[in-house]
Amino acid sequence: MIFSGKGRIHLNGQKNLTDNSKPLVFNEFEYVYLPLLNMNSTSFEILVKAGDHVKVGQMVAFRNDHFYVPIFASVSGEVVSIDKMMSSNLIFAQHIKIKNDNKFERCDTPLAMDVNKVSKEEIVEAIKQAGITGCGGSGFPTYIKYGGNAKIDTLLINGVECEPFITIDYHNMKMYKEDLIMGIKFLLKASGANKCIIAFKKGKDSLVEALSPLVEKEDNIEIKLVPDVYPMGWERTLVKEVFKKQFNKLPSEVGIIVNNSTTVIKVGQALTSGLSYTTGCTISGDAINQPTNVVVPTGTMVSDIISLIGGYKKEVVDNNTKLIMGGPMMGKALVNDGICLNSYNNAITFLFNEELKELPCLRCSRCVDYCPSGLQPVAIKNAEIAQDVDLLKKLSADTCVSCGLCSYICPSRIQVTDYTAKGKARVDKAK
Ligand code: SF4
Ligand code: SF4
Repeated sequence: MIFSGKGRIHLNGQKNLTDNSKPLVFNEFEYVYLPLLNMNSTSFEILVKAGDHVKVGQMVAFRNDHFYVPIFASVSGEVVSIDKMMSSNLIFAQHIKIKNDNKFERCDTPLAMDVNKVSKEEIVEAIKQAGITGCGGSGFPTYIKYGGNAKIDTLLINGVECEPFITIDYHNMKMYKEDLIMGIKFLLKASGANKCIIAFKKGKDSLVEALSPLVEKEDNIEIKLVPDVYPMGWERTLVKEVFKKQFNKLPSEVGIIVNNSTTVIKVGQALTSGLSYTTGCTISGDAINQPTNVVVPTGTMVSDIISLIGGYKKEVVDNNTKLIMGGPMMGKALVNDGICLNSYNNAITFLFNEELKELPCLRCSRCVDYCPSGLQPVAIKNAEIAQDVDLLKKLSADTCVSCGLCSYICPSRIQVTDYTAKGKARVDKAK
């Protein structure tokens, strides 16, 4: 391990588990369960009922609060039921269960937009109607980023993928490089920016090789290689690294829009050749037989994927596996694998659950030294234990990004991040 300064650290990425093979495409699951969930919102209008026949690309529901996010059928077949289930965000949400007829009949036609002929407004509206949300795990509706009045001069494409195990963005950028460049062209026009930087980690030589011939043809797109440290993929760290700029709430304050690379690929596909209603996901970790990247219909059950790719390791008995939706640093622990993939879930990590005994705090301040948000995690932990909301506010607990570094770095194995996350929730609730 190489320590490389305050707020960032080189992690053993474990990327080799899934780096060298193409994602496997699986379609023929018996059922999909489309989650009616976007970020933490479960406010959706449902357009279908049990017994209806649906086709791929048919809108079956839409988010109907302050954001608009349509949900589309990812397979053709019959709607079986609409019931509440535990979602990947650990919130109970309605799921539309569809029995897959394996015909994959589509009901939409590609938009075939010409980037030279469409207006900014038409692009933003098309992204909104396509239901594209941040594929880096956030699910934030992409059209919102392009609807503001801030003057934008640069588009920053985030392909850093700094969490251990996750490699799906890396594969997508290589496989769909033309769609990536096309998505960038649309987003440059939508944002009014005059240049675009594609950022990813040093050492990805084959990605540089794949993208360079396309990037060299464009005078306003360039590649920027960034250090292999965590959390380089966090937009504040990335903006600081690439532009030496800091912002308060949004990168648009300093003239920048940041988008995850797979999201941009989806924009390129949706506006030209047609969107695929699939989820690309890294399934990795030391507790499964065959770590791999998969592309499956959105709404596929995690347990179905695990059975198809070779199952759990024999030693996985007595509940000694940790299932994490996302990567091991920022992901959320799941109770079981009966969870369905949302369009923006990019990874599931399965780890052997090591029982590590927590020791008393050494007051070493390592968690303070490494916090990328400049917080005092150990003080937040103590304030959370005391349930002292005023002190939590004073310590800016609400600005914690749950990066997991304070737990990772703690020599006493204290799960500091669990407390900082609770402290953050307590302040949010008090607000
Ligand atoms: S989890 Fe929060 S408090 Fe801990 S290091 Fe990350 S940002 Fe700081
Ligand atoms: S890193 Fe752990 S031991 Fe050190 S001050 Fe923070 S909580 Fe205490």
